[in-house]
This record gives sequence, C-alpha cells and structure tokens, in this order.
Amino acid sequence: MFEDFAYTRPDTVAQAAQLLQEEAAHALAGGSDLLGCLRERIFPVKTVVSLSNLKDLRGIARTAEGGLALGARTTIAEVVESTEVQTLYPGLAQAAAEVASPQLRNQGTLGGNLCQKPRCWYYRGDFDCLRKGGASCLAVHGENQLHCILGGDACYMVHPSDTAPMLQALDATVWVAGPAGDRSLPLEQLFMPPGQDPTRETTLQPGELVTHIHLPPPEPGLHTRYRKVRARRSWDFALAGMALAAVTEDEVMRSCRIVLSGAAPIPWRVTHAETVLTGQRLTRALCRAAAEAAMQGAEPLAHNAYKIELFRNMIQEELERLIRS
Ligand SMILES: Cc1cc2nc3c(=O)[nH]c(=O)nc-3n(C[C@H](O)[C@H](O)[C@H](O)COP(=O)(O)OP(=O)(O)OC[C@H]3O[C@@H](n4cnc5c(N)ncnc54)[C@H](O)[C@@H]3O)c2cc1C
Repeated sequence: MFEDFAYTRPDTVAQAAQLLQEEAAHALAGGSDLLGCLRERIFPVKTVVSLSNLKDLRGIARTAEGGLALGARTTIAEVVESTEVQTLYPGLAQAAAEVASPQLRNQGTLGGNLCQKPRCWYYRGDFDCLRKGGASCLAVHGENQLHCILGGDACYMVHPSDTAPMLQALDATVWVAGPAGDRSLPLEQLFMPPGQDPTRETTLQPGELVTHIHLPPPEPGLHTRYRKVRARRSWDFALAGMALAAVTEDEVMRSCRIVLSGAAPIPWRVTHAETVLTGQRLTRALCRAAAEAAMQGAEPLAHNAYKIELFRNMIQEELERLIRS
C-alpha cells in the first residue's frame, strides 16, 4: 500500500525545481522505478513532482558541434530506435536495448535510468541498511553474490544502470536545472561515491533535476560497444558489463575509455586498463594485460569472487574484437 502523498504536475522546469526543494519531494518521470519504491515504502515521499508537462525535456537533437543532446524524458526505447544514436554511437543504442524489458523501455526514461535507486536486495527489502540510515551495509557479511568488487566503501551495492557506463565512456555532459539556475557537469560527477555519502546516489542538490545529456561529436574511427552479462536470458540487471569507446588506427589504440557496470556502486572507469592500451598495437597479449589491469584493486566479498574472472574474460574478448574488425 502507498502512503499518502501530494501529486503535482508543473508546467515549467523552474516550477519543478521549486517544488523539488520541498522535503521528501521526488521527481516522477516514467515511474517504473519510483512507483515501486513508493509501494514498498523504501524511503519517505511527501510530494511527487511529475515531469510529464516538461515537453522540452523529451527528444534527441543534433548539437551545433555535431554531437547529440538527449532530453532526460526521452524514453529508453526512443534511444534504442534513434537513427542518429545508432549511427553516431551504436554502443549507446546497444546499452539502451539491454535495459529491462520492452515494456519498461517504453515507459522508463533516460533521466530516470541515470537517477534510479539501487537494486540491492537489502535496500529494497525490509532491512535497516546503511543507505536507509542503518548502522552498516548488510551485504558485507550477508548474501553478496551480486554486490560490488570495486569501489566498495561503506555500501557495497552495484550501480544498476546500463546506459550510465556507456554515456560515461562517451564523455557525456549532464545538464541540470535547479533553484540557482542551470549548470553542467561531466556525467561521472553525477554519481555519489558511497564513501562520500552512502545515503545518496547522485550529487544533485535539493530542487535539482537532470534536463539533458550532451554527447560530444564522435571522433573519426570511434568504435563504441556495450556488452552485458546477466544471470538469465530474460530481463535482468548486469552481473558484469563493459562500455567501450575506443579510437583505433591500423590496430593501434589511439585513445579509449572503458567503464564497467555490475562492478561498483557507481559506473566504474578502469583507467589502469586504458593506460595499458593507449598508444599500443593491439595484440591478444595486450588485451589480456589490459583485462588484468582493469581488475587491479578488486576486493571481492565472500560470494562474488567469480566476478573477477568474468570481467577479465569479458574485457579481453571485447578488446580482441578490435583486432579482428
Ligand atoms: C523489472 C525491472 C527491470 C529493470 N532492469 C533494468 C536493467 O536491466 N538495466 C537498467 O539499466 N535498468 C533496469 N531497470 C530500471 C529501469 O530502467 C528504470 O526503472 C527506469 O529507467 C527509470 O526510468 P523512469 O523514467 O521510469 O524513472 P522514475 O521511476 O520516474 O524515476 C526513477 C528515479 O529517478 C528520479 N528521476 C527521474 N527523472 C529524473 C530527472 N530528470 N532528474 C532527476 N531525477 C530524476 C526519480 O525521482 C526517481 O528517484 C529495471 C527496472 C525494473 C522495474
């Protein structure tokens, strides 16, 4: 059963920002995540601020620089189907296609996908976990098969989004509107590391909402790809995922960005692996070395050490595709 809450549908972003400043006010986009949280009473909600009247926040357009601007209310299905996304950043279309089920992709939005709440079973269940104000993360000594192996600090969830790692690999910028006006930030700065604050998933301030995501124009020779491994073939969150944005020339890696999903509480960029690859001719040995470097610093919990080899093999396999292609 839902607790009572107020429902508002502002006509402008400025009104939305004002309403979102109120205590326990939450933005409602597609509702595919928020309504479940409301039903399960995961966190207190006093006001639901629907974004459905904010028409400017929906759609995909070319930027003057030759990149793309994606509105936060653009559905995941629209991202999958966009010819421009498929042409300029096929890896993003792939990542969006890996999200949930067709029904959820029709309903869920890009902004909601980036700002969705954790899927950790302790957080979603009737447990007093750290993220909900409890004393500690219950996954540490509990059922932690699906939890993080990197970046665990206080909370050991994994970030649930498939689009976030790919957008981060593409060097996306997020535009945010709030009571103090608009601002932009690199996408990686949207996600709150649990060591800084385990009770928040994003760095958004009270009243702020995501309005757009901007992608820079693709460099010549850019190869983008998203690979997701899940426990079952129907819809499921990533056990391990990898977003790759690489520029190669005659099988020499000119530049690359690799961001993992299913690995850490935030989308996890593996700069050690990028350093191993950059400027080098791609060989099977180099791909393996990069895969090893990606797992540098991994600290598995009692039941998720299997993820390390899963990631190593997946990363190696994906990099080797660049040799064959
Ligand atoms: C069964 C199931 C399976 C799923 N599987 C996957 C999966 O495999 N991969 C994956 O990536 N996701 C998965 N998801 C998550 C799904 O993709 C998200 O629920 C969806 O993207 C959220 O979008 P929404 O528009 O419905 O968000 P909402 O439910 O409306 O909002 C989600 C959260 O984001 C906030 N929010 C929404 N829009 C904004 C904005 N513009 N600015 C600031 N905050 C905002 C809301 O306040 C809320 O806290 C799954 C969900 C379900 C229910």
